[in-house]
Amino acid sequence: MLSSGVVSTATRRVISVGTPAASSAIRTHKIPGPRGNTLAKYGGRHTVTVMPGDGIGPEMIGHIRTLMKYCNAPVNFEEVQMTSTPYDGDMEEVIYAIERNGVGIKGNIETKFDDPAFSSRNVELRRRLDLWANVLHCVTIPTVPSRHKDIDIVLIRENTEGEYSGLEHESIPGVVESIKIVTQDKIERVARFAYEYAVLNGRKKVTTVHKANIQKLGDGLFLQIAQEMAKEYPSIEFDQMIVDNACMQMVSRPQQFDVMLMPNLYGNIISNIACGLVGGPGLVSGMNMGDVHAVFEPGTRNTGTGLAGKDIANPTAFLRAGIDMLRYLGCHKHANVISDALWQTLTEQGIHTSDIGGSAKTSEVVEATLRNMERMLPRYQ
Ligand code: ADP
Ligand code: MG
Repeated sequence: MLSSGVVSTATRRVISVGTPAASSAIRTHKIPGPRGNTLAKYGGRHTVTVMPGDGIGPEMIGHIRTLMKYCNAPVNFEEVQMTSTPYDGDMEEVIYAIERNGVGIKGNIETKFDDPAFSSRNVELRRRLDLWANVLHCVTIPTVPSRHKDIDIVLIRENTEGEYSGLEHESIPGVVESIKIVTQDKIERVARFAYEYAVLNGRKKVTTVHKANIQKLGDGLFLQIAQEMAKEYPSIEFDQMIVDNACMQMVSRPQQFDVMLMPNLYGNIISNIACGLVGGPGLVSGMNMGDVHAVFEPGTRNTGTGLAGKDIANPTAFLRAGIDMLRYLGCHKHANVISDALWQTLTEQGIHTSDIGGSAKTSEVVEATLRNMERMLPRYQ
């Protein structure tokens, strides 16, 4: 089980921190609904689709695979290529592979915003697989520099419609209509997910974010559905907040938030604020959930192209995406050993990449986590 040789000694800044209870802070979610199985499981092993993507994606996927292999996680990887340089049929190949396996893990694909003909391949993937809920868990990690302490927010975002419907046209020269689509069914399923998530994970409050004072029909419907549904969940406090105020409250007093339920675009913006508050894009993972498919990725959906090949990116966000995936597959022991080992690396050992104030290389974070796993594994059998 324990491999040899590949691990060198990483530089360690030993900082004594943390209550033992805090070690569960990145031990990720219980996921509502009849989920937890890959469609492709043979001989006790799951097959998952891997899309390394652009930028740091390929090297980060490599690290995930190393850690999973090290603890004998019963997962096989089927790799498919999709990058910002499309080739004929590559999207179909990816879609078929995820439909076949039910589960995917991906890096981000660069979206060229200066080319009007190039629409986001990430958005297309989510839409075509109907991955309707995006879930991020933003929690402060002791020793990681952040503007606030004690943040622990779960952000649940409608992931397929709203401003991301992709329906834009220039009706007459100089006038563009950009259509925001809001549908009752799609709001209901994501709102239901948020309340169920809250109950399942012992959360207390769901705050619905909206701009219903201006977008009276579209956001009005979102708010109305969330408010009505809250009555079915008396143990969960209902709260709502206008998106501009929510942004201000996030940066001034983020501890007031527990679960946040949001339409697509506001969810994108607020999720990025939340990731920034707990230490940046290298730390948080994101889950994209549908009825039968799930795709795991870094929460802020960055490519980190400028960091690629330098061994300096923070691997935490990707590793947590891998942990989320193991959890989803029901591989809890493997998820626990990786997340607890990573937690030890980041907190007790203070081994940090430069984005969070350290000088460690990506590989040093991974190597330290492997060493921690080596010590922990006998206790996780
Ligand atoms: P790029 O222009 O290099 O593709 P992105 O837009 O993808 O950058 O990312 C935004 C910022 O977040 C960049 O400064 C990038 O370096 C940083 N970043 C993204 N991912 C990570 C990571 N895993 N570790 C550290 N920094 C990251
Ligand atoms: Mg980028």
